[in-house]
Amino acid sequence: YADLRKRAQSRSKSRARTKSRNSSAGFKLDVSDFEFGEILGEGSYSTVVHAIYPPTEQEYAIKILDKGHLKRVNKTQTAIAEKNTLVRLGSGHPGIVRLHWAFHDEWSLYFVLDLAKNGELQSRISRLGSLSLSCARYYAAQLVDAVAYMHSRGVIHRDLKPENLLLDDHMRLKITDFGTGKLLEEGSERTGTFVGTAQYVSPELLTANNTSKASDIWAVGCIIFQMIAGKFPFHALSEYLMWQKVKSLDYTFPDGFDEVAKDLVIEPTQRLGAGEPGTPYDIEALRCHPFFKDVNWETLWSDPAPPME
Ligand code: ATP
Repeated sequence: YADLRKRAQSRSKSRARTKSRNSSAGFKLDVSDFEFGEILGEGSYSTVVHAIYPPTEQEYAIKILDKGHLKRVNKTQTAIAEKNTLVRLGSGHPGIVRLHWAFHDEWSLYFVLDLAKNGELQSRISRLGSLSLSCARYYAAQLVDAVAYMHSRGVIHRDLKPENLLLDDHMRLKITDFGTGKLLEEGSERTGTFVGTAQYVSPELLTANNTSKASDIWAVGCIIFQMIAGKFPFHALSEYLMWQKVKSLDYTFPDGFDEVAKDLVIEPTQRLGAGEPGTPYDIEALRCHPFFKDVNWETLWSDPAPPME
């Protein structure tokens, strides 16, 4: 990290020379254009650092991926795929972390992302035990809305879970971590690689090794269950045992689980939100589920968030 600061300073000197030579020419951004602050988090292949872009004083989260490390663990393609997915999603939805710029130098790749100041939804659920029904409904609706956009752009996330749902400074949700994202090509609806996190893996992924938009919707159901119940729907001591439970739909609702939400989550075949647009199980049908009766989808991203409780 200290190395990053040195890198920024040395780039800054050489860029000052270049910029004065090309004062009217457009130039690409690099590390020297940002002021770096605290480390926000670490992933398996990345460090995410708070940064400010001085010309606008805008704050960002910059995800830094070490090229050497990516090469050693054979993940360069994954990083490129993450960038391509973020580019496809563009700035189209407030519930998806936006990639503002991407650049690289000799050592690293840099993704300049929307800053989500309030961390992961997972830590809130852990801290509170579970969420109030109005809070769970609010985040469920934002998740459904953001996933609907993502799917309309031909992107499957494949690893939706509360660790990948960040909260911005207005406590609104932002989906992140498209490292396992998949771009669907025109006409294709499925892809056959196994990725994801055991607790949120769909039965069809385990039995037929198929991921599709429906698997993301399965994960949405698991997340809604978890927000309301404060525990995973499928949990066991090993991944193998967990997968047995998913395959046999071995789960129970805890006492007091909201009756209306029950048929919204964990639906093996007639999964609302999983159908193609215009079919009875499409995403519109999911929005119309009685659990979302009081949600105003038009003002979902401008209304204040309910208190986190
Ligand atoms: P892995 O790559 O192993 O799945 P990860 O998805 O957590 O891990 P990153 O996406 O690199 O990896 O994120 C690392 C941490 O940085 C996250 O846990 C999160 O807390 C924080 N973080 C990531 N993106 C942002 C962001 N846009 N704003 C604020 N914090 C972020």
